[in-house]
Amino acid sequence: MLCFTDLTKKYGSFFALDRFHAELDCGIYALLGPNGAGKSTMMNILVGLLAPTAGTVTYDGKNIEEMGDSFRALIGYMPQYPGFYLGFTAMELMRYMADMKGLPRKDAEARCKELLKSVNLADHANEKIGTFSGGMRQRLGLAQALINDPKILILDEPTAGLDPKERVRFRNMIRRLSDKITVIFCTHIVSDIETIAKEVILIHHGKLLRQAPIPELVHDMEGKVWEILPDADETETMLDQFPRSSLVSRNMQTVIRIVNDTQPHPKAKACAPVLEDVYLYMFGDNGV
Ligand code: ADP
Ligand code: MG
Repeated sequence: MLCFTDLTKKYGSFFALDRFHAELDCGIYALLGPNGAGKSTMMNILVGLLAPTAGTVTYDGKNIEEMGDSFRALIGYMPQYPGFYLGFTAMELMRYMADMKGLPRKDAEARCKELLKSVNLADHANEKIGTFSGGMRQRLGLAQALINDPKILILDEPTAGLDPKERVRFRNMIRRLSDKITVIFCTHIVSDIETIAKEVILIHHGKLLRQAPIPELVHDMEGKVWEILPDADETETMLDQFPRSSLVSRNMQTVIRIVNDTQPHPKAKACAPVLEDVYLYMFGDNGV
């Protein structure tokens, strides 16, 4: 059990994290919030790259700062901006990471190969990372994060640069991994985690807004989601009028979807909420 208590990070007088708290067990936890919400700050504290201004993180009741290396041995980390050595081949990077994590040499070679295969990079094992596409680098980022069989896998915006097919494959891989380990999946993209997250942790301005399973979050939006079929000249004004709105396609027609506590317009019809509506409700138009 991983437990964040009153975690705070200040830069000058600015709170990047503000008394953040959350509890995580096994399974996939989505840390969802717009850019600047504090997600990477929280992950960097968890992996020991940043020291918190106040508050604690505990693992099975023990403070992770006091655990030190024994905690670091439990985590796998895929950073938002991996600083790969572009002159390394994929295999060289894997060997390097295996060394860093203290894997015995005799096991490392097979483990590196197996992981490269699992992320579909076996055929590129001896090519330089500098020649890799964004998607290939992301997959390598996942492979290196798994080298020590982590109990806690931290993925910071892992699908950036992946095409839609790669995103699906990535999600499936994570899902397969998540039975026995804790996965923290930071993202501002709802569709990344909609089908796989056990719970969503909503974060904004460094604060926890809510931690709950997806059905619960979606259920709370009942009666707050509306759609309007606008006349041709109304679309722009309506989008301006309702900041928590988006354009969606229904039966070849463009409709305006609005998240609002009450019926926003006489023409608006209530409709079934989805997780994207939760995001719009919580983070408004600056959340996209
Ligand atoms: P996210 O990962 O959710 O996009 P971050 O954790 O990267 O957000 O950033 C949270 C906030 O902290 C942002 O407003 C960011 O500008 C600010 N921040 C991050 N690092 C620093 C820093 N070294 N100095 C000052 N402000 C920072
Ligand atoms: Mg970030």
